[in-house]
Amino acid sequence: MALTIASFSKVSCKVCYLANLRYAIDAMTVFEPYIPKIVLAIGAHADDIDFGAAGSLAVWSGHGAEIHYLVLTDGSKGTSDQAMTTEQLVATRQAEQHEASQLIGAKDVHFLAYEDSMLEVTHDLKKDICRVIRQIRPDTVVVMDPTVVYVADQGMINHPDHRAAGQATLDAVYPLARDHLSFPDLVQAEHLDPHKVEHLLLINPEKQNYYIDITSTLERKIEALGCHHSQFPDMTHIADFLRQQAATLGSKTGSQYAEGFVRIDCPA
Ligand SMILES: [Zn+2]
Repeated sequence: MALTIASFSKVSCKVCYLANLRYAIDAMTVFEPYIPKIVLAIGAHADDIDFGAAGSLAVWSGHGAEIHYLVLTDGSKGTSDQAMTTEQLVATRQAEQHEASQLIGAKDVHFLAYEDSMLEVTHDLKKDICRVIRQIRPDTVVVMDPTVVYVADQGMINHPDHRAAGQATLDAVYPLARDHLSFPDLVQAEHLDPHKVEHLLLINPEKQNYYIDITSTLERKIEALGCHHSQFPDMTHIADFLRQQAATLGSKTGSQYAEGFVRIDCPA
């Protein structure tokens, strides 16, 4: 039933009416495509950003966008190589991320080096992300959606670091980076003025409301993932999965290959 203002008085519950109206508005939302000027893509681990968004980042860098990666942990845990030391693994992960981001056309990669697999939504983490946001001053932030706890169909439990990265980033974007009285020492001691992010793009494997055609960059995305040799020594299955995933998302928008996000345009 189409809801109109005239029908308002006939609805017994105003809450239900408003919920339905909200649903109708959301269902009609069509986001205006745009090319970001400055992007900050945030991941818990080296490879997270490339897995979820490298195709889009490559499209944007090709249009002149300034791309920054921010990796929150040191990647010091995920190996079965008994001979590998923590120092070697951290250095390897960072080198691989640098190589991948260069392929994508990123300007820089930043590392916060929190302990791998132990990431928590703390005051310090929020402040560290807030600092980078105020330094880089992105119009667009890309990060994993913290609401994804598991994806039953894919037999996937989302890594707790991913959820912490997403939640801390959302908190940093709004309201912490925006308000000069939040972390005032960033302003007073580090001369980092408040900054308002315009667009948030959340990586979510199950739901999306915004798609980007990555037909021209999918193979570069796969090549970038291949730079993470220590995590993907054999890219065969990963490449097949990425092509299939991109084709599925592309079919929703009429392109051959796409990436999808939950887009939030932050209110002015
Ligand atoms: Zn990860």
